[in-house]
Amino acid sequence: MSKLTIQDLVLRGKRVFLRVDFNVPLKDGVVTDDTRIRETLPTLKLAIEKGGRLVLASHLGRPKGGPDAKYSLKPAAQKLEQLLGKPVAFASDCVGPEAEAKSKALKDGEVLVLENVRFHPEEEKNDEGFAKQLAGLCDGVFVCDAFGSAHRAHASVVGITKFVKQAAAGLLMEKEIAYIGQAIGNPTRPFVAILGGAKVSDKIEVVENLMKIADAMLIGGGMAYTFFKAQGLTIGKSLVEEDKLDLARKILADAKQKNFKLLLPVDNVVAAEFKADAPATTVDVGAIPADRMGLDIGPKTIALYSAEIAKAKTIVWNGPMGVFEMPTFAKGTLAIAQAVAAATSGGATSIVGGGDSVAAVQQSGLAKKISHISTGGGASLEFLGGRKLPGVEALTNK
Ligand code: AMP
Repeated sequence: MSKLTIQDLVLRGKRVFLRVDFNVPLKDGVVTDDTRIRETLPTLKLAIEKGGRLVLASHLGRPKGGPDAKYSLKPAAQKLEQLLGKPVAFASDCVGPEAEAKSKALKDGEVLVLENVRFHPEEEKNDEGFAKQLAGLCDGVFVCDAFGSAHRAHASVVGITKFVKQAAAGLLMEKEIAYIGQAIGNPTRPFVAILGGAKVSDKIEVVENLMKIADAMLIGGGMAYTFFKAQGLTIGKSLVEEDKLDLARKILADAKQKNFKLLLPVDNVVAAEFKADAPATTVDVGAIPADRMGLDIGPKTIALYSAEIAKAKTIVWNGPMGVFEMPTFAKGTLAIAQAVAAATSGGATSIVGGGDSVAAVQQSGLAKKISHISTGGGASLEFLGGRKLPGVEALTNK
């Protein structure tokens, strides 16, 4: 079902409540990475162009339910002012008389940033009274561009939608819903899912859901070793989740029974220690010495996975293939990034999600060659896992 988007709205003369994700890293009161603010600029610029009066809200960090200068959104508001090249007003509380007065003083195209919504414990409780107060700061129009919070039923994401006439997706949110929704709802085939990262436990739902939808799944990273151990193979000192062995066995059995193409690495780069300068060697699967740990996929796996990726028309990738933070063990992840970029140039749609795989793609300089880089780690995992996101469900249907 398609959702209302900011493009459908008439905003001139109206205060619009914009839930953004300005959850940026701060150091000594200065924003150290403004990516999240920049990502939402197209939505903000469109709202300004449309003559809206913008009331912006976000969370930042995990304050303990009360005001805490460490988590103030003021530095983010200052950063936004620079990026927009126009004044941005700030209210020191997201509800109450100051926020009300400052929102009412806005003229068409002007911007107000509210203080951190998580300074009120009611935010995470999705409290109705608090949501109503937030809604009172706009003229019946809500736009959500905070995909990273869409899996949370919080007041500024979900509760507020009850008290407005129109609840629409911002451009960033719309793009997330379109790409991920299409991949899991109606993918162009073959659809290849690539899953890596440290643990199976973080991605169980994604593995199970994508096994129902994708044509092939390529597993890498630390999670591969739990699958190896479940098959009775030696894994040396590699990362393993003992309590997930049964689950890994069940997933392997399901794949076999359904004739699903679930690929595991065929060789591994191993080292004696979890260290950037640890001497590395490559061994075949099942041959990891007792005193070594697997820290990356090997060249045979890179070739095998790259060939699968080259055939794909839809690619979803979440989680690195190895300990990519250490250059010696980053080769697998970088090679997969290259394969995904090449397939995309050849016409495939690619979606990369999860903080670490996104970092790896950025590190490799290939980000521009990926169709869609998902901004919300947790939200994209839940979406790929087949869950409905409350922040998306709550938006007005077209
Ligand atoms: P995740 O957040 O679950 O996507 O996991 C990302 C983390 O998994 C990164 O910090 C990687 O260094 C780590 N990782 C990937 N492969 C391995 C491995 N073979 N052993 C240990 N950690 C790994």
